[in-house]
Amino acid sequence: MSVFSSSVPILVTRLRAAGCVFAEDEAQLLVSTAATPDELAAMVERRVAGEPLEYVLGWAEFCGLRVAVAPGVFVPRPRTEFLIQEAVALARRVAGTPVVLDLCCGTGAMGAALAAELERAELHATDLDPAAVRCARRNLGAGHVYEGDLYEPLPASLRGRVDIVIASPPYVPSESVALLPAEARLHEPLVALDGGGDGLDVVRRVIAGAPQWLAPGGHLLVETSERQAAATAETVARAGLAARVASSAELDATAVIGTRPQRRGFSGAAAPAAPPA
Ligand code: GLN
Repeated sequence: MSVFSSSVPILVTRLRAAGCVFAEDEAQLLVSTAATPDELAAMVERRVAGEPLEYVLGWAEFCGLRVAVAPGVFVPRPRTEFLIQEAVALARRVAGTPVVLDLCCGTGAMGAALAAELERAELHATDLDPAAVRCARRNLGAGHVYEGDLYEPLPASLRGRVDIVIASPPYVPSESVALLPAEARLHEPLVALDGGGDGLDVVRRVIAGAPQWLAPGGHLLVETSERQAAATAETVARAGLAARVASSAELDATAVIGTRPQRRGFSGAAAPAAPPA
């Protein structure tokens, strides 16, 4: 119970008038996050002016974690929790400490959530945007966060060692960016949203790089849309990975999963005949 609880009904009215659909929830969150009445007033002004709630609060909830979110960094979406559920199931089957790579990491929410679900993990994350890298470093305490384009800043020693690559790269087709909600369109960085003509420019580069970084039997999980899933899966298959599409109607989420084949002799099917006695 906060000292500002009495201001909640007034706040709800203001937020609702400004078009906030979940005005009650937002009012509670603002009141419980602000440390002083002045801070609360400033936060309300920013929200009423249209800034995403997560920028105003300075955090977002993702997979039950409170993740730091800085203005100008892509806000983790509830739908992306689906990709983490899939990744957790695959990572739990890894013998030893799973090596995880979060590409286009933004706030680092995905890597943080996956690591939180595992007993132990070796976590690496990259992002092109210095603001995202700074934010991810706050969220990924023990993880290694590198600034640069996709795999480019990674140490060569990771080649062929990564068990799980997770990525929610920009995948909005350029001409659809204008149709995004104003909060995304006006406040989030275009580089985190715009995926080029068909939306798959960055996705294709994520997929093309994956086979040389994945360990044998390792998995790449990429978030995509239902409409883009078939083309994404085809690209995964052409890169030599076994492709499948997973989706959740409840979370309105689609992920394409590519698995690097096991080394010859390690998988049952490809095992060579026993040597002569
Ligand atoms: N339409 C997606 C969203 O807003 C875009 C996410 C992305 O491009 N990474 O959730």
